[in-house]
Amino acid sequence: MNSKTFRRDAHEVVDWLADYLDKVEDYPVMARVSPGDISAKLPGEAPGQAEPFKRLMEDLEQIIMPGITHWQHPSFFAYFPANSSPPSVLAEMITAGLAVQGMVWQTSPSATELEEVVIKWLVQMLGLPGEFTGVLQDTASTATLCSLLSARERASAYAVNDAGFTGQERYTCYCSEEAHSSVEKAVKIAGIGRRNLRRIPTDKAMAMDADALEAAIHRDRSQGFHPLWITATLGTTGSTAVDPLARIAEITRREGLWLHVDAALAGTALILPEMRWMADGVTGADSFVFNPHKWMFTNFDCSVYLVQDPAALVQTFEISPEYLKTAVDDRVHNYRDWGIQLGRRFRALKLWFVIRSYGIGGLQQAIRAHITMAARLARLIEAETDFGLLAPVPLNTVCFRYQPQGLGDENRLEALNRRILEAVNRSGQIFITHTKLKGCYALRLVVGQTRVEWRHVEAAWELIRKTATELGKESDGSD
Ligand SMILES: *Cc1c(COP(=O)(O)O)cnc(C)c1O
Repeated sequence: MNSKTFRRDAHEVVDWLADYLDKVEDYPVMARVSPGDISAKLPGEAPGQAEPFKRLMEDLEQIIMPGITHWQHPSFFAYFPANSSPPSVLAEMITAGLAVQGMVWQTSPSATELEEVVIKWLVQMLGLPGEFTGVLQDTASTATLCSLLSARERASAYAVNDAGFTGQERYTCYCSEEAHSSVEKAVKIAGIGRRNLRRIPTDKAMAMDADALEAAIHRDRSQGFHPLWITATLGTTGSTAVDPLARIAEITRREGLWLHVDAALAGTALILPEMRWMADGVTGADSFVFNPHKWMFTNFDCSVYLVQDPAALVQTFEISPEYLKTAVDDRVHNYRDWGIQLGRRFRALKLWFVIRSYGIGGLQQAIRAHITMAARLARLIEAETDFGLLAPVPLNTVCFRYQPQGLGDENRLEALNRRILEAVNRSGQIFITHTKLKGCYALRLVVGQTRVEWRHVEAAWELIRKTATELGKESDGSD
């Protein structure tokens, strides 16, 4: 492909993408294929000869598109969003074209320095203490692992990195029952051992019980353990519950634990002054992660990892092989030492494009609209006698279920709600997912898509209500 054909084909791709976004509502939100359907249509061997671009685009339409679940569909209410926006897509194109690998400052000074600047902007935008500084990583899972490794190294005076575990460390870690699975994964990978992760019970609002945390730390200490690290979650994945950070910070400061704050989704909401109550106590946190790739209109992947003490991070990860040394090493950030991977994508560019295209005001308006729509839906659900909310709705996520009178049995309620979920998703009109809260099966609807409007949420609710009533009647008749 020479530059003339690249130019022509690239224009075609941009037109294709713009058309796609214009007509994205015409697709079924969730892909309607079975396992193996897509691979069965693809040749088992790579082509020997060059194929024309036209053929690639035809196969994209005919083979690949039917197996796409449309995350950018405004009625995508599943999981947490991975929303995107035109400025982010354009920046991703430029990033791909420049194809920079930003492992050290010298490999592209702009990649490093723009990253420093957008991180500083974000710290201000979220109202976080100015001491926080950080790095862009791929995902919150990576950030949380980096946090635990840094905590382990700081506590052991960097001895585990040097000589490995002696067996005398006996570290314990803490999180709530509702914490994300990436916390357990980090505990496994960091050599702490899953058995040494204490899952602290939650209150009625699914937030960590701080008294139970304090008791668990004391119990562990009295049994010869070394309480090391805790993750507090702002916006749990199940129901966006908010752990009591101020209380937790007070305990961890007294007890000398590393406090990590996982705000993967909810961090974005801190751009709203009225949501800053969630971060009360964050000055006591050692590290903080949030994902612009979830709710801040920035293409996956883009996770912001912030720390108060970058020296602990860098001392945990730094390496200095001869072939990577440069003359300016003592004057610049070499981000290769701020995380696990050596090679790094130029992720700052898309954040810069998004923040400048929306402005802080535009981002606030969009996020506030999502939170308002979720609250409005919650009120509609509460007003129905046959439906009930299963958790408070502090952010953009609504957990609820159909619970008609006389169907009190937990197993039957779960079976009925499972059938509702399957039916509404099969319709192709919306995509929602489920969770379990205190043992109860919950339908879970998240308002966070870039193009979502109230009419989409309202239509989703109508569909769920209608489907529930129909299936409820059938299940009545069946026994
Ligand atoms: C989504 C989520 C994560 C994991 O995010 P990745 O960036 O995909 O690793 C971690 N914690 C919480 C609370 C989440 O909601």
